[in-house]
Amino acid sequence: MIVLTLNAGSSSLKFNVINMATEDSLADGIAERIGLKEGFVRWTIQGEKGRLEVDMKDHRQALSHIMEKLHETVLVGEDVMGVGHRVAHGGPNFGDPMVITPDVLREIEELAFYAPLHNPANAMGIRTAQEMFPGVPHVAVFDTAFHHSMPDYAYTYGLPYELNQKLGLRRYGFHGTSHRYVAERTAALLGKPLETLKIVTCHLGNGSSVTAVDCGKSVDTSMGLTPLEGLIMGTRCGNVDPGALLTIMEKENMDVKGLGNLLNKQSGLLGLSGISSDCREIEDALDSSDRARLTYEVLSYGVLKYVGAYAAAMNGLDAITFTAGIGENGPVLRSWVCSRLTNLFGVVIDEKVNNTRRKDNRLISTPESRVAVAVIPTNEELMIARYTAKFI
Ligand code: AMP
Repeated sequence: MIVLTLNAGSSSLKFNVINMATEDSLADGIAERIGLKEGFVRWTIQGEKGRLEVDMKDHRQALSHIMEKLHETVLVGEDVMGVGHRVAHGGPNFGDPMVITPDVLREIEELAFYAPLHNPANAMGIRTAQEMFPGVPHVAVFDTAFHHSMPDYAYTYGLPYELNQKLGLRRYGFHGTSHRYVAERTAALLGKPLETLKIVTCHLGNGSSVTAVDCGKSVDTSMGLTPLEGLIMGTRCGNVDPGALLTIMEKENMDVKGLGNLLNKQSGLLGLSGISSDCREIEDALDSSDRARLTYEVLSYGVLKYVGAYAAAMNGLDAITFTAGIGENGPVLRSWVCSRLTNLFGVVIDEKVNNTRRKDNRLISTPESRVAVAVIPTNEELMIARYTAKFI
């Protein structure tokens, strides 16, 4: 059974083709610069990388190019049996993955209020794929869904209660599919039931969030109403005193649009370091640039504080899991965080194992460590494909 997963952005379309019999990815890639000049599609198909320079007027054309390539290679004589869509915001109502009916699609579009950059693009990807694959189930998997289990005191902001109610202002959290996946893999790695474990999962990539997973349920997470809250990220600011925002608006004469752009696109690793939004470039400059050092430590310290806070929130800590681009590939950050958790939590990592670059699920803590520390490559696409397969 072949499942296609799609993640549509405003000018991009990521895809993955998964054979559910083996759960192997047969192909993955992305169409970029859709609707713009100098568009291209790049892919990895059965280990072989390829690229097609092609301008695409819309997502439909992008998906046509992708499918053409797939039918020439991995899908010879095979049909896509279901399509799983990553949807950023499920709002207060969508918890579980859903088959996308016209009503569900309408609601996803209405949720653009919460995720203006993501939900309209997700909806466009869904419409396109539904036209191209009319006879198969299309399933929406929401990034916010895993965090539906948070208690009210963890998701409530200290704003006027009526305003919270009126506008739906609360913490929703994101990266839920990833946090759930790596928590499950951590339990499997430890050989213990997930329902018995208190895990802090650290998804550190271009966007970053930390989640407290208590007995398999998210009980708190660092992102909020939008993916701006929490850690500093590639270009997003993370936690800032709201008073600072008022100051910027007043002193810099900035309107809502300008401020949104500043907080989403010009802050975080890029804005602080002045070097790049890419953590690798910051790591490379650690010895030569004090701003690079500061940026790296602001991020690492943020992770450290969330681990401490969430251990308190769960009244215990069995494991810390690192995932996504920086979490999987950043031994310096992992070491920075873990070396500061020795006295209170008895965390001890094996630096040699920490520094070895590997692609598999692994423990980097020593057997004596009171808290296990794991590195788990995330696989949101596989989770989305699994949910989709349930509806086929
Ligand atoms: P993601 O959003 O999960 O793709 O992660 C992107 C982030 O991971 C970027 O900041 C990259 O610099 C970082 N990253 C990816 N590979 C590495 C690596 N080998 N070492 C350090 N950071 C990395």
